Amino acid sequence: MKLITVLCSIVLATLLPCFAFADTNTITIPDTNYHQTQTTTQIEIDSLQQSLATTTTDTTSMYPMSPERKAKLISYSRFNNIWRFVNFFVTIGVLCVILFTGFSARLRNLAQVAKKRFFIIWLFLILFLITDYILNFPFNVYRNFIVESDYGFMAQTFWQWWGEDLLGFAIGCVTTIIPVWFFYWLVGKFRRWWLLFSLGAIPFAVFFIIIAPVVISPLFNDFQPVSDKTLETKLLNLASKVGIEGADVFEVNASKQSTKVNAYVTGLFGTKRIVLFDNLIKNFSPDEIMFVMGHEMGHYVMHHVWWGLLVAIMFIMFSLWLTDKTIHPIIHKFRKRFGFDKLNDIASLPLVMLFLTVIMFFFQPITNGASRIMEHQADIFGMEVTGVSGETAAKAFDKLSVFNLSDPDPPAIIEFWFYSHPSLKKRMEFVRNYKKATK
Ligand SMILES: [Zn+2]
Repeated sequence: MKLITVLCSIVLATLLPCFAFADTNTITIPDTNYHQTQTTTQIEIDSLQQSLATTTTDTTSMYPMSPERKAKLISYSRFNNIWRFVNFFVTIGVLCVILFTGFSARLRNLAQVAKKRFFIIWLFLILFLITDYILNFPFNVYRNFIVESDYGFMAQTFWQWWGEDLLGFAIGCVTTIIPVWFFYWLVGKFRRWWLLFSLGAIPFAVFFIIIAPVVISPLFNDFQPVSDKTLETKLLNLASKVGIEGADVFEVNASKQSTKVNAYVTGLFGTKRIVLFDNLIKNFSPDEIMFVMGHEMGHYVMHHVWWGLLVAIMFIMFSLWLTDKTIHPIIHKFRKRFGFDKLNDIASLPLVMLFLTVIMFFFQPITNGASRIMEHQADIFGMEVTGVSGETAAKAFDKLSVFNLSDPDPPAIIEFWFYSHPSLKKRMEFVRNYKKATK
């Protein structure tokens, strides 16, 4: 978890409610990164895409899965499982270095040239984020560029990837200033700052969810109406059938960054939209796409963006409350090393991030559990509304596993702790039996 993501998700109080068809790390802004490589898989994918340009058959070198791809899937999912822990300790380690060396206090002294409190906070925030970015950089490159390249997902050169990564970083620096300033203003004035911050975050988060799809996402990708007009008509018919009038359905050129496939729903009010990856349209049959879209429309109709926001706000309130209850003795104990003696000091920001990272890590089964419930509801909705067979729906899940190298049957503890979606094996079993049960 990159710190920017922690900042964006916790401080912005949003977790960017965005309900995708499957877990991949290509949804959030800073993590959309890929590149062209000469590995065999990349060649495989290139030839796949060429063959798909002329024919829509799904019997390709990628699907059904070859034994080589199966081996690759297992190694990729093992790597991901280990990385979740590595990443957690790296994030904490970096924050500890910044704190225990007194570097945070030094950055605060430096920022004080700005005189006015708001600008001191902003300057500190930027210096701190740059420090954090540099210290995390080797891990960032390794996970998001090298590993993605090795497994053949990357569709960008290093420079393209890094350019987008820096853009995400710059967006983080700009968008987090208001919440961070608001946080320190409340801490200085109110005892129940954690409650007020959580409530104050609601309008901010709503605003951010509204503008993100139209202001931020287009900086990374092009969003076009679906180019296949037959498919578009079918999608709009499905939308009006479920009561979504004037729906915005977009095709995004996600293949620019990665070969992974997905679809998601995000935004609120006028910016609410369903987005399909171009890779999904290229590689899935019309019926499979309809099921995926039925699932996405389920999120839309059942107001999951609002429910997601509610869960996020409750979670933030709890995390900040717990931080308030536990952080003061730590500050007191290490005040000499840290170079600050109260939470009210902006130099405490890395410590606050440290607490939130730890709390988020240990309590994420709660938010993921809530998410899995909503994903399951969306699966049911997709089956009901499209009337596709259980086999078709199961095939869509099977393809996801093959194209995204996602383990259909992860260890139970991993699913419980980290998965925002039920495992693909469970989803496949469910859709197969669901149709049988309702026949
Ligand atoms: Zn979903």
